[in-house]
Amino acid sequence: MGGPTAPDSSWKGSLNVSYNIGPGFANSSTRRVRMHVHTNNKITRICNVIGILRGAVEPDRYIILGGHRDSWVFGGIDPTTGAAVLQEVVRSFGKMKMEGWRPKRTIIFASWDAEEFGLLGSTEWAEENARVLQERAVAYINTDSSIEGNYTLRVDCSPLLYKLVYNLTKEILSPDEGYENKSLYESWLEKDPAAENNSYPRINKLGSGSDFEAYFQRLGITSGRVRYTKNRKVDKFSNYPVYHTVYETFELVEKFYDPTFKKELTIAQLRGKLVYELADSQVIPFDCRDYGEALEGYSSRIYRLAKKHEEQLKSYKVSFDPLFSAVVNFSKAAAEFHRRLEQVDKKNPVAVRIMNDQLMFIERAFIDPLGLPGRKFYRHVIFAPSSHNKYAGESFPGIYDAMFDIESKANQHEAWEEVKRQISIAAFTVQAAAGTLKEVA
Ligand SMILES: [Zn+2]
Repeated sequence: MGGPTAPDSSWKGSLNVSYNIGPGFANSSTRRVRMHVHTNNKITRICNVIGILRGAVEPDRYIILGGHRDSWVFGGIDPTTGAAVLQEVVRSFGKMKMEGWRPKRTIIFASWDAEEFGLLGSTEWAEENARVLQERAVAYINTDSSIEGNYTLRVDCSPLLYKLVYNLTKEILSPDEGYENKSLYESWLEKDPAAENNSYPRINKLGSGSDFEAYFQRLGITSGRVRYTKNRKVDKFSNYPVYHTVYETFELVEKFYDPTFKKELTIAQLRGKLVYELADSQVIPFDCRDYGEALEGYSSRIYRLAKKHEEQLKSYKVSFDPLFSAVVNFSKAAAEFHRRLEQVDKKNPVAVRIMNDQLMFIERAFIDPLGLPGRKFYRHVIFAPSSHNKYAGESFPGIYDAMFDIESKANQHEAWEEVKRQISIAAFTVQAAAGTLKEVA
């Protein structure tokens, strides 16, 4: 953050131990600590606040912008830097409405309560409206904290949103020092290129840890989240140092994180533009070809992991071929779908609606109603929160978890049968999703 970082001796407490500011522990101590934790256990009322801007053309198609309002303590960063963005987007859309504008599709603005207690507000609303949402929701954009650092953009989203995010970040000016007159896309690409192809900026898989979980992982609604983040090359910790503490105050944001509030403005612009384009473009701005490419990457990655057990793959007759062939079929169907989409008669509202519905339901096609093993509310076959870090995303989680630490399992035959079962589920699901993209009869 630019200031002096070496602490003087006054930061130490008065316990009779050697103090260490990390990262990590100075030595692997065997010291035991007894903690007394005092919490209140009571039943209390929570309040979600929902605002609806009715669509003028397709009122039965929904774009949701949702973020939480409750916080652990003062919530200077989490969630207020995101809740403020929700307010500003609502204010600007309200201004356009006053001037007579209406979006084509309905926009739902949601201020969730009780996120910190287990994503309660957003999950309750998703459950209450599950039937309607699974039929009508086009996309969910999360608006939790808009900063967790001040270095560059961080995006986690469904592959369907990659193109839209790339296009919109080219329209926004970078707020970074030294990048005056350059686009957000340019500074983002320079600071955080993708590992597999450095001609694009990095986009991460969705995990969990915030309110999009029920919408993406359970209902299969295309989702995304964007925020400003720290430099991942020098700071590998998943959260910022004062995350969820009493030190998360407005002063922290104003003095250190975003003194000009330009980073937060940039995130408001990007979240607002995402909602605007999803709600108002005649053709839903999803690109299904990017899903095909992502599936190719995820399936070769999981195969590379499996190849570490080459002997067992042979002896237990484990084959990834059905998955590979389903992924090829999906990519082919996506390419053909996209060709037809480019030629669709834009003056024929039924023809456009047919293809828009196919786009909306791609994500839903990846939902397995039975859920992942032992995690029945995580039903997306392509993505799940990692079983080892809920904030991070894992691809082909069913296969990944079945193979995790597999050599330590007592019954090897049973363990590899489970891997085969998970490969079948993944192959079937991808193949079925490809089927939804075919030209309608
Ligand atoms: Zn939060």
